[in-house]
Amino acid sequence: DLWQAIEFGQSKPQARVEGTTGVGFADVAGIDDVVTELQELVSYLKDPERFNQMGTKPPHGVLLEGPPGCGKTLLAKAIAGEAGVPFYQMAGSEFVEVLVGVGAARIRDLFKRAKVNRPSVVFIDEIDALGAMRHGAAGEEGMDSYNAGAQERETTLNQLLIELDGFDTGKGVVFLGATNRMDMLDPALLRPGRFDRKIAIRPPRAKGRYEILKVHSKGVKLDESVDLESYAKNLPGWSGAELAQLLQEAALVAVRHGGTVINRLDMDRALDRLTMGSERIGLQRRLPVHRRMATHETGLALTSHLLRRLEDAETEFCDRVSIVPRGETLARTIFDRLDDEAYLFERLPALLHRLQVMLGGRAAEEVMYGRDTSTFSLLHLPDASWLARKLVSVWNLEGGITITGDPNPWSREAVFTGPSLGFEGGLYDNYGFVERPLNYDLVQETTLRTKALLDNMYMKTLTLLKQHHAALTKAVYVVMEKEELFGEELDQIIDLYPLGTSVQVVE
Ligand code: ADP
Repeated sequence: DLWQAIEFGQSKPQARVEGTTGVGFADVAGIDDVVTELQELVSYLKDPERFNQMGTKPPHGVLLEGPPGCGKTLLAKAIAGEAGVPFYQMAGSEFVEVLVGVGAARIRDLFKRAKVNRPSVVFIDEIDALGAMRHGAAGEEGMDSYNAGAQERETTLNQLLIELDGFDTGKGVVFLGATNRMDMLDPALLRPGRFDRKIAIRPPRAKGRYEILKVHSKGVKLDESVDLESYAKNLPGWSGAELAQLLQEAALVAVRHGGTVINRLDMDRALDRLTMGSERIGLQRRLPVHRRMATHETGLALTSHLLRRLEDAETEFCDRVSIVPRGETLARTIFDRLDDEAYLFERLPALLHRLQVMLGGRAAEEVMYGRDTSTFSLLHLPDASWLARKLVSVWNLEGGITITGDPNPWSREAVFTGPSLGFEGGLYDNYGFVERPLNYDLVQETTLRTKALLDNMYMKTLTLLKQHHAALTKAVYVVMEKEELFGEELDQIIDLYPLGTSVQVVE
C-alpha cells in the first residue's frame, strides 16, 4: 500500500493559475454585505503601496466559511478578477499525501510562486482537509507517530502556518481559505495573524435566490411565462450552485424539444429532474394504482384551494399535481410556499387548515372509493398526527393542559412542578423544570384529545370534498388524462362544478 502511495505521490499537482479570472463582483449575487466587506481586499491588491505608506495592513488571511455551492470560490475569484491580479487555487486535499514532505513542498511552492507574481491571490479550498484537528492528545501521541498519514498532515499544516506567520502583509499577496467544516478546523489556523478574519457565507434567502437566478439567466433566454421570483420563493435551502444548475437544466430541456427560449414548462421539467430524477418512460400509467394516486394528490390540492376560497385559509396555492413518474416518485403535488413569516408565526386557524389539507388525500379517497381506502392515502397521516398532537400538547393552542418537552409520548417529559406541587416518587425541584418519568394520565388525555381533533378535522374535510364531489371527479379525470394539472386549472374546475353539482355531470 505504502509503495503504491509513493508512486502516486510522484505526480505533483500544480496550483491552478488563472491569469485573470474573468469573474467580477457582478457575477456574485445575493450576498451584497459580504461583497462590501471584501471590497477592501480589492483596493489593497490594486495598490498595496498606498496601504503600506499609510501604515495600515489588510487582514493576513480571510476564511470563507459556509455550505458548499454558496459562492466561496466564486467570491475568491471575483476578488482577483476585480483587482486584475493572478489567482492561485488549490484544494486542501491536494496537499495531503502519505509520502512525508510532499504536501509541505507543495505549500512552499504555491506561496513562492504567488509572491513572485504579486500582487496576487492564493486560494485554498477545503482547507479543513489539511487543517483538520490534530488528534495528538497525550495518550495517543505514540500511536499517531506510526500513522504516516497523520504525520504528513501535521507537517503540511505546519508549513502552511509558517507561510502565514512569515507572511509580510506588505508583500501584496492576499490569502483566502474556504471550508464547510468549521468544526474540523485546527484551532492553530484561527490564531491572530493567521486567519484573522472569518466571513460566514450562508445559503441565500428568497431575495438572494432571486438575485442569483437573475444573474444566471443572463446567459440563457427566458420567455415571459417564467416567473423567476416565484421559483426563488419556492426553493428554500437551494444553494447558488443548485440554482445555476436549474437554469442550465431548463436550457437543455428546451433544446431537447427544439425550443429556442426557456418557458415555464421547461423550468418545471428541469426542477422535477433535479429533485426526483429522470422521467421513467414507458411506465403504464392507466393502472388503477395511478388513479388512486391521482385521487390522493388531487385531494390535497383541492382541499387547500377550497379552504382558501371558502374560509380565507392561509394555506398554500397548489402549483401543480403531477403523475409523471420520475425516479422513485410516482405522483406528487407541488405547493407554492407562503411568505417566510407565515411559517415562523403560525396561529391556530392556519394550523387547523393545514391539518385539513394533510387529511385531504385520505378524504378524497373515501369520497371516490367509499370505505375501500388504501394504504397510499395514509401517507400524510403521520404528519397530521404529529401536528395534531403538538397542537393539543406542546403548543397548547387549544387551551387546557400543558405538557412541555418532547411531543413523543414515550420519552421522558420535563414538567414544571411549580412551588407547591409535589409529584409522588419523582425527582423534582420545586422551582424548575425536572426530568421525571412520564405521567401516563397526561399521555392518555393528550392522546384522546389528539384523536378527537384528528377525527373532527377529518370529518370536516370529508364533508367539504363530498360537497365538491363533481369538481374532485373532474380534477382527477384531468390529472389521469394529461398527467398534470396546474393550480389555475384547478380553480377553473371549481368554478365550473360548484358546490352540490351532481357527479353524473362529469361521468
Ligand atoms: P463554494 O465554493 O461555496 O462551494 P462555488 O463558488 O464553487 O461554491 O459555487 C459554484 C457555482 O455556483 C458558481 O460558479 C456559480 O455559478 C454558482 N453560485 C454559487 N453561489 C453564487 C452566488 N452567490 N451568486 C451567483 N452564482 C453563485
